[in-house]
Amino acid sequence: MINPDRILEIENLTINFDGFKALRNLNFHMETGELRVIIGPNGAGKTTFLDVITGKVKPTEGQVRFKGRNLRALSEHQIARLGIGRKFQTPRIYLKLTPRQNLELSCNRDKGILPTLIQKTPVAERRTVGGLLETIGLVPKADIAAALLSHGEKQRLEIGMLVAQSPDLLLVDEPVAGLTDEETYLTGELLTSLAESHSIIVIEHDMEFVRQIARQVTVLHEGSVLCEGTIDEVQSNPRVIEVYLGQPQEEPHAAA
Ligand code: ADP
Ligand code: MG
Repeated sequence: MINPDRILEIENLTINFDGFKALRNLNFHMETGELRVIIGPNGAGKTTFLDVITGKVKPTEGQVRFKGRNLRALSEHQIARLGIGRKFQTPRIYLKLTPRQNLELSCNRDKGILPTLIQKTPVAERRTVGGLLETIGLVPKADIAAALLSHGEKQRLEIGMLVAQSPDLLLVDEPVAGLTDEETYLTGELLTSLAESHSIIVIEHDMEFVRQIARQVTVLHEGSVLCEGTIDEVQSNPRVIEVYLGQPQEEPHAAA
């Protein structure tokens, strides 16, 4: 049955890559407005999971419903237009343009790139770009070449470019890989503030970061959901400790 409060409903999803099941009978749902973190060992199927939601990979079995609509027959482009935005691990920004220009392009994406470069940006859109620059903390660097930004700033700019397209659901794959502690924290603050107005799925390995942002955590293992719960529930789950977090090492020569 379709539940209108659920932005995403995934039922019995199986992805078969030439005999290898990257996802197996996976069931998952999230409510509109949720910020969900997905963790799991390498090869668990996390990126494949995002590939299916964006339409890059089509279900072998099962279905994905976004706002109640089955995505099977839609192309990647159509799914993006329905309101699903994805942030890849490597920032996809125009390095020679400034953060402001990058955001202007994203705000105008549907109208094509050429008119944006030639015409002046209307006042309303300029304000939006200004607001986005504030949100991502790049006002002081708005007008320098994006090539000069730190890795963390580039990541935040790309998140801003996604938000510029007003997606309902934001998919973010390992946003803090390779970031300093401070940049990691800022990215967490950004995602937390975006969560006030978007539904977001974040895939991440950095457990301290997960603790900073997470409310509800889903653990994937071998293509299925191993468990779901708060970060404390998940971190104390014996199966999660066994397959992902690892046992605390016993001191081999501890005093008996
Ligand atoms: P994660 O992101 O959790 O590390 P992935 O979703 O990237 O895991 O991959 C899950 C499994 O599926 C891995 O064993 C990977 O090798 C395999 N896989 C991913 N994409 C393909 C593909 N296009 N063809 C074959 N196997 C794939
Ligand atoms: Mg991955």
